[in-house]
Amino acid sequence: MIKVDNSHRTRLFTNASSDEIDDLKSRVANKILEIESGSRDYNKLAMFENESYKDNISVFLYKKKIDEAIKLLLDEVADKAFKNELRNLQKNLFKVLIGDFKTIKEYLIELDSSNSKLIHRDSTTKSADFKKYQKRFEDLYTSQLSGSDEFKKSFFRLFTEQGINVCPYCNRNYINPIYKTEKVGNDYKKKSPDIEHFFPKSIYPLFSLAISNLLPSCDFCNKIKSNVDTYPNCKSPYEIEEDDFKFYFDPLDVSSSTIKLESKFDNSKILHLENLYAKVHNKFVDEIYLESRKYPLENRRFLNRFFSLPLDSQKRLYKRKMCNYYLEDDFNKQPLSKMTKDLFMQIKEDEE
Ligand SMILES: [Zn+2]
Repeated sequence: MIKVDNSHRTRLFTNASSDEIDDLKSRVANKILEIESGSRDYNKLAMFENESYKDNISVFLYKKKIDEAIKLLLDEVADKAFKNELRNLQKNLFKVLIGDFKTIKEYLIELDSSNSKLIHRDSTTKSADFKKYQKRFEDLYTSQLSGSDEFKKSFFRLFTEQGINVCPYCNRNYINPIYKTEKVGNDYKKKSPDIEHFFPKSIYPLFSLAISNLLPSCDFCNKIKSNVDTYPNCKSPYEIEEDDFKFYFDPLDVSSSTIKLESKFDNSKILHLENLYAKVHNKFVDEIYLESRKYPLENRRFLNRFFSLPLDSQKRLYKRKMCNYYLEDDFNKQPLSKMTKDLFMQIKEDEE
């Protein structure tokens, strides 16, 4: 699990680019920053709702579409309390759609503690009303994001522009989108990574288009995570801190070691990461780890020199020696960076 930036600029995307749209986007971003450093009242964004290009910006288009869907739902659902909750959601749409991760999680906790009908965990006991509400949001997600070429491309650009190349969940597979210009035979014209809902949309349909609930992920993580509930025992890559997960390595004998993953959160359990790393990447670890133990003197000399260098030189030397990135901020650039760093630090600790 690798940290991903959740600042205000990484939460706005558009279906096109022009001077007018870019200008509006930048004014909205500044307003979000102002809101988040003050009242945290996201409804202040309503001031942009009369602007000509507002539907080119994800948050305004999605709010309009959800408003329309809720109006239809109010005629479709039978339960009065359910209707009231939908009306209440309508008042909180800016917060849901553009709020940072902390904000949407607080809203989830608030709804959950009042046993909100907008959240339902048991897939076998969903009411007819919940199913209608889930279907409306599922359709919106498909038509407005996963099936909308322009918005989808712009969503992925939020991450590629930050240099994020690897799945933030497993730190194993590349997630760079490929947009082919020509069709060859019967192949697909486009290929993009999956969009992963951290809080599953089947349990929390209201977060289907909430930007702080969305991350690009590899196909494998998206499938394996599926609809497993991540609340309350998992951390999103948007909120993760460096020490929340740590790999460690058990030398079994002279020729092999085992990879373990330590964490007080359930992410690695849900994604089966420990098992996956131990089975797939143990050879890579053995080559480095056991090699360092074979030549203790040489290893000690290298480490002494390494930790006496300034940070810039450490970064360069680490890249040469470990073929990866030294700093947490760069972990999203290359696969296995977190495991490699933890391995390097364990080799150092073993020395002490
Ligand atoms: Zn993955």
